[in-house]
Amino acid sequence: MERLKNKVIEDGVVIDEKILKVDGFLNHQIDAELMHEIGKVFHEQFAHENVTKILTIEASGIAPAIMAALHFDVPCLFAKKAKPSTLNKGFYQTDVHSFTKNKTSTVIISEEFLSPDDRVFIIDDFLANGEAALGLHRLVQQANATTVGVGILVEKSFQQGRTRLEEAGLNVSSLCQIGSLKGNKITLVGDQA
Ligand code: 5GP
Repeated sequence: MERLKNKVIEDGVVIDEKILKVDGFLNHQIDAELMHEIGKVFHEQFAHENVTKILTIEASGIAPAIMAALHFDVPCLFAKKAKPSTLNKGFYQTDVHSFTKNKTSTVIISEEFLSPDDRVFIIDDFLANGEAALGLHRLVQQANATTVGVGILVEKSFQQGRTRLEEAGLNVSSLCQIGSLKGNKITLVGDQA
């Protein structure tokens, strides 16, 4: 998606060879119009899959996920990283290791929002090693629901995420693929280093 790629190149700040900061439009301040267009693209790609729910993880996945939910005309569900005291009925849970925070947290969703007939489209902001997306997929499996695909805004293709997701049988669509962050430079897949 050209508009997202341009934004990543213009606004992205290379933190080190593995981490890109995109606080200007995605992870802190949010470009709502861009998120809306991203939601539209995912809908065009997966409209035939009879999606019944968009699933993401708090917090940064919520903006693109809710815009996608608008286009699919389905609810947006997000996994929580801490169990609120108000959640006292049944819930699904799994552990997810955060690449950027280097810490493992238990993520949960209430059982009442996922059922076996749900067809779930998972969305996340970044794909690194696939931990978050695989964790969300495990929650879908616990509910005996179906994951129809995974939509990623920024895939770091030099990490293992895509391979791991595809090995799990998941259909992955990423809108911007980064080939390298070496030399303090963002090189997209297909661009010359
Ligand atoms: P994974 O679970 O695929 O290993 O990593 C993806 C998750 O970690 C995303 O939910 C995202 O929040 C975070 N993440 C991974 N790499 C980056 C990065 O380079 N920049 C930012 N801002 N977040 C990242």
